[in-house]
Amino acid sequence: MLQTMLVGSLPRPTWLVPPNAMYVSWKLKDDALREGQDDAVLLALADQEDAGLNIVTDGEQRRRHYIWGFVEGLTGLDFSRLVEIETRGNRYGIKVRAARVVEQVRRPRSVLVEALRFLKQHTTKPVKVTLPGPMTIADTVADEYYGDRRRLAAELARLVNEEACELAENGCDIVQFDEPCFNIYLDAVEEWGVRTLEQCTQGVQAKTAVHICYGYGIPAVVEWKSKNTDWSHYARTLPLLRTSMIDMISVECAASGVDPAVLAEAKGKDLMVGVIDVGTEEVETRETVAERIRMALQYVAPEHLYPCTDCGMIPRSRTAAQGKMQALADGAWLVRAELQQGRSG
Ligand code: ZN
Repeated sequence: MLQTMLVGSLPRPTWLVPPNAMYVSWKLKDDALREGQDDAVLLALADQEDAGLNIVTDGEQRRRHYIWGFVEGLTGLDFSRLVEIETRGNRYGIKVRAARVVEQVRRPRSVLVEALRFLKQHTTKPVKVTLPGPMTIADTVADEYYGDRRRLAAELARLVNEEACELAENGCDIVQFDEPCFNIYLDAVEEWGVRTLEQCTQGVQAKTAVHICYGYGIPAVVEWKSKNTDWSHYARTLPLLRTSMIDMISVECAASGVDPAVLAEAKGKDLMVGVIDVGTEEVETRETVAERIRMALQYVAPEHLYPCTDCGMIPRSRTAAQGKMQALADGAWLVRAELQQGRSG
């Protein structure tokens, strides 16, 4: 019980990208890039194992961005002439330069399977790989071909599903789909989002998870979170996910101040609960983490609760990320000890 893991990325070493940068190109090329990424993965893995996390990832060290890491492996998109688009319903006022969908999207070969194999060669712990969810990919590209977001998302779901099946066949224990848009387009989530997400899970012989969050801990997002107090959207989305084929649901709770009472709406599912704020360099104490876990335990059985980070840690320093992983593992250890004592005593 209380198995810990990262929900998203770890910061990348400076031999790969400039420090604290998010939307960047690699410093290395070809074989040197591959070698640099291998080294980064080994460090990311060692950091997670040193901290004592129970389920590990490659820290997304091979991805420039959580969406592009997969989407760059597809065809049908033009990455050479980007266009500026609004994303996430313009909630955070952030515009991004996006690739254009110019013909039918296809997946000529697996994108992340080789990276999974490398990871598994270097650990005996259960592993997780994340893929962007179809609604969120569709929100982050400029569609000049399908003319219908739902249709584009359905096409993407087919490709995400193929990748997820191959990951599972190659020993991935958890396949996680990142869908921050599930916090934004509530009508679409209800009309087609959850169904399209379920397409991604068809036939996947591994646990499947969906990660719902408010995005990286960058200033515009942190400011929005500091003002928002309305969490009623979970009363719409979590019941839909509760009756879906998805096994695990990841909710950001630490930085956003989401009332953990919303977790009751997903009763029976495994819940990955964010107990680490990824928007600050300040490292939580293990007592703070333990307290957040205890709050979540009021609504989730310990066997179903997976303490996690809120989101990716790309914007953080490596020192802060290491401290936060340690706090996560130690906080969970404290509460686990209390629960075991309670059961034996
Ligand atoms: Zn996230």
